[in-house]
Amino acid sequence: MFRKLRTKLTVLYAALFGVTLLLVSMAVWGAISQAAQRQVRGELTASGTVFDRLWSMRSERLREGAALLSRDFGFREAVATGDQATIVSAMENLRHRFEVDQVFIIGVDGKVTGGDTGLLKAGEAGRLAAAFNSADDPGGVAVLGRASYQLISAPVLSPDLVGWVVFAVRLDGREMGSLERLSAIPLEAAVLHRDPAGWRANAEGGSAPGEFIDRALKQKSPDPMVLDEGGGASIALVKPLQTLMPQEAAVLVLRYPLARALAPYRPLLAVVALTGLGGLLMMTWGSWVLARGVTRPISALDEAAHRLQRGEDAYVEVKTQDEIGRLAESFNTMVTAIRDRERRITHLAMHDEETGLPNRLALEQVVDSLTLQPRARSYVAAVGVQRFDDMRGAVGYAFAAQVVRKIGNRVGALPGALGVARLATDVVGFTLTAPDDATAEEMAVAFLGRLEQPLKVGGDTIDVVLNLGLAPLSEGARSAIDLANIALDQARTGRRRVAIFDAEAYGDPSSNLSLMSSMLRGLDAGELELHYQPKYDLRRREVAGAEALVRWRHPVRGMLAPDLFIPMAEETGHIRTLTEWVVRRAIADRRAMAAAGHDVRVSVNISGRTLGERDFADFALAQAATARGGLCFEITETAVIENPELALEMLDAFAEAGIAISIDDFGTGLSSLAYLKRIRGDELKIDKSIVQGVTESQRDALIVRSTIDLAHSLGLKVVAEGVETNACCALLSAMGCDQAQGYLIAKPLPLKDFLTFLGEDAVSRRHYG
Ligand code: C2E
Ligand code: CA
Ligand code: CA
Repeated sequence: MFRKLRTKLTVLYAALFGVTLLLVSMAVWGAISQAAQRQVRGELTASGTVFDRLWSMRSERLREGAALLSRDFGFREAVATGDQATIVSAMENLRHRFEVDQVFIIGVDGKVTGGDTGLLKAGEAGRLAAAFNSADDPGGVAVLGRASYQLISAPVLSPDLVGWVVFAVRLDGREMGSLERLSAIPLEAAVLHRDPAGWRANAEGGSAPGEFIDRALKQKSPDPMVLDEGGGASIALVKPLQTLMPQEAAVLVLRYPLARALAPYRPLLAVVALTGLGGLLMMTWGSWVLARGVTRPISALDEAAHRLQRGEDAYVEVKTQDEIGRLAESFNTMVTAIRDRERRITHLAMHDEETGLPNRLALEQVVDSLTLQPRARSYVAAVGVQRFDDMRGAVGYAFAAQVVRKIGNRVGALPGALGVARLATDVVGFTLTAPDDATAEEMAVAFLGRLEQPLKVGGDTIDVVLNLGLAPLSEGARSAIDLANIALDQARTGRRRVAIFDAEAYGDPSSNLSLMSSMLRGLDAGELELHYQPKYDLRRREVAGAEALVRWRHPVRGMLAPDLFIPMAEETGHIRTLTEWVVRRAIADRRAMAAAGHDVRVSVNISGRTLGERDFADFALAQAATARGGLCFEITETAVIENPELALEMLDAFAEAGIAISIDDFGTGLSSLAYLKRIRGDELKIDKSIVQGVTESQRDALIVRSTIDLAHSLGLKVVAEGVETNACCALLSAMGCDQAQGYLIAKPLPLKDFLTFLGEDAVSRRHYG
């Protein structure tokens, strides 16, 4: 309900005090009204006694007066003779003397003499006469007309009973007034009588509920009782009055309103109420001030906690030495600890533990800030260390990490390189913006030159060879980094020092994922086929063999080159299924060539992964038996380096079974003469990247020539791959190269076209070089 502690405390205290005050007031009020009631009761009882006394005194005096008259001789005679004038004058005398309202005579016959005519209705006089006749004490209250009277009578004997002298005192306002005046308290007196309809007041007024009177009359001794009426409570005493006629009843009601009794205490109560109200106000104000004193530091802590949550400065000033002060101190300590931890976590989150270099997240932030103000010539670069695993195997994990760290430090020192970060075990990323006078590629090549300087690690000098991938920043932060990594892969697989991300070569990764399942389906559906590229014997000037190169006639994407699905098939393990299909197909096609009269050795590419599988060897050996010596496996050196024992064992088994072994892609990557010597190979294929430079580059020419010599010395035939020009072919021929393969002779051809080519070749004996 109340959201602030301060309000809550204030309201609570004020409410508690208010309730206490109310209880005290109620107790005071109760005590006062009890006392007042007690006092009023006493007064009422006393007034009742006084009234009794007065009543009987007057009755006595009147009775004496009446008796005096009735015994007076002259009067009796006047009554007997019917001397009206004497009777009336005597009665008038008495009326004045005793100050009564009426004096009259009722005859035995019911005839009334004197008094107000009309006071007694017809029949009433007779009723009264009968009552006087029968009663022992012929006095009491009676209702004459609408008014109550106290009647006192005395018989008139002359000598026999002739009638009664009657004194009638009207119990009216005046009478009641004199009674009221006698009391010490200002009470109200009234006489009520009962008629068939209930209790009824005099014509003079006064009232009380009949039910209350009945209840009061039932009491053993007449005590004052509380009378609750619409107009307010009062205390009332009901006194029964003796009536003349036994069937009639009359009461005197004395009452005193409580409000009047309490009136003297009002000022006292008002003082109590005002003091209470003042106390309440002071209490509320005091609790508010106190609560504020208590809650202010709590609010400050609360606010600080919120600031901490928002990551803002959350220090709280410690002002007191009490619990809250200590709490604030603990809070500050906690805040410092949290800040320290946060700093450590952010550092960990942003840095690579092994090298201490920033990590990918850090680069992402730099890239994000750069993409906010995109510059057309900005790129993300990924630098990868070649043969990192081998280097790590040689120098150990710790030194390998040092190599990466040193490369990272060198990158950090490059002008124009920002956000250096370790992206993978052997990859360091950064951003670069190409200057106006150079392309990003030129800049990257220049960078590589500086980065590839020999490194000193653990007392040794290490040579590192690096590749670099570039992706334009326009691609967005995350994807630019990913694309730079892919560009690095493209540089590595393409054996280029620097590569800019090539979307076309990469294809659509999401469709690549489903590519494998559709490749397997395509194998069954006959969508894959083999094209053949001739290997031309430079000395005998004829086609000596053909390399089988797989093609996929994709129903939607059209003819797909192997570079698009072979690497993925190798990664996903589907290369085995594909290779087995190629081997079978190649053997079948070779049979078709033989049937057309051409004995051609067919070369099949076997990827390194397949070479490491023992049961593939079983399959290959069984197939070789059906090919009768016309089969060649092209393998790369790397396939052997990855798992030398098993690979060499298998290659031996293949050689044993009559399968020729060709060492493919020689001159790229890591030519290792140590393995070259151990492979029982038949031929060596010099990679097209070197072959194509042979006419221009002295260095390439040197490599090709020495490779040819080396191969020959190892007993290997040499095949030059990617021969596109006559000049190249002639130079290779002059260098002693055995065979040439390339677009100069023929592109890879479908089997039908290849058969035609073979037929033409047999006839024309083409000459190259
Ligand atoms: P590779 O074994 O080095 O095959 C030679 C590649 O050089 C072929 O590309 C061929 O078309 C191309 N080439 C031939 N002569 C010339 C030339 O004069 N100039 C130029 N620029 N290129 C020339 P292709 O057919 O696209 O094959 C690419 C790679 O795919 C192959 O490289 C090979 O590693 C792999 N590959 C192809 N078929 C198979 C296969 O059946 N199994 C396996 N495991 N790999 C295969
Ligand atoms: Ca090949
Ligand atoms: Ca090759």
